[in-house]
Amino acid sequence: MRSGLLGVGLPLEDDRQALFILRHHRRFPSASHALVEEIGQRIFILTSAASESMDDRLVFFHEREDSSFSAMTTTPAFANLTLIRHPLVQHKITLLRDRRTPTKIFKELVDEIAMLMAYEATSELSLDPVTVQTPLEQATGFQVSGKKLTLVPILRAGLGMVEGILRLVPSARVGHIGLYRDHDTLEPVDYYFKVPSDAAERDFFVLDPMLATGGSAVSAVSSLKRAGGVRIRFLCLVAAPEGVRRLGKAHPDVQVYSAALDRELNAQGYILPGLGDAGDRLFGTR
Ligand code: URA
Repeated sequence: MRSGLLGVGLPLEDDRQALFILRHHRRFPSASHALVEEIGQRIFILTSAASESMDDRLVFFHEREDSSFSAMTTTPAFANLTLIRHPLVQHKITLLRDRRTPTKIFKELVDEIAMLMAYEATSELSLDPVTVQTPLEQATGFQVSGKKLTLVPILRAGLGMVEGILRLVPSARVGHIGLYRDHDTLEPVDYYFKVPSDAAERDFFVLDPMLATGGSAVSAVSSLKRAGGVRIRFLCLVAAPEGVRRLGKAHPDVQVYSAALDRELNAQGYILPGLGDAGDRLFGTR
């Protein structure tokens, strides 16, 4: 379906939840008019979308006037997806998409976006109460509970996301999953797997900048579960609807955090509009 209403959401469960998803064609205002009337006072519109020239994209509507700056959103159509809508993330993702962005800057941007995304993706980590002694008296506070965070980049592009997250969580461990995509079948081929042995005790963040067909993501999460992993999140920079759906179907317990949900895949499995081959752009191997 290239235009028209894609889906209508359920009543809001909280004020950050997306209310509607509209796949619009060319002009945002005309495509959304009837829908906005139908919903009346409860909806505000991402006004920035009106000036964008891309014809066909998913637009998220929220209850709040400042919703385009809401840090995280979920959508009824993709229950397993959390979009990181923070303005800095959106700004940097746009620079990343630009074909003129050189390798050095691309690498720095991936690093920065990964750190900002990790800040959001760690917002639900559990806390234990602790007591500390200030210079004046005893104070109660919190510390992130015992479950150690483990980053698992999918080689090779996932490596670009590691350092930024480690700056935020320096005690995190780093496992590695080596997968490459067969250019003919587009299916993942497994060549390396190493994670800490106490997998059941850990919170895993699987890292891959691009969630395209979902084949690598499904395979990586399956390997992690076979190794004992139970609490697994998937962090990417750009996701395709196909990949989000496929990962959600195979592993409904795994929440995906992404900075963008793009339109579709092309015949070669690249995300459109995407940003090209993330590995090549990160490592200058184009
Ligand atoms: N991998 C990439 O690097 N880019 C895409 O668009 C899809 C998969």
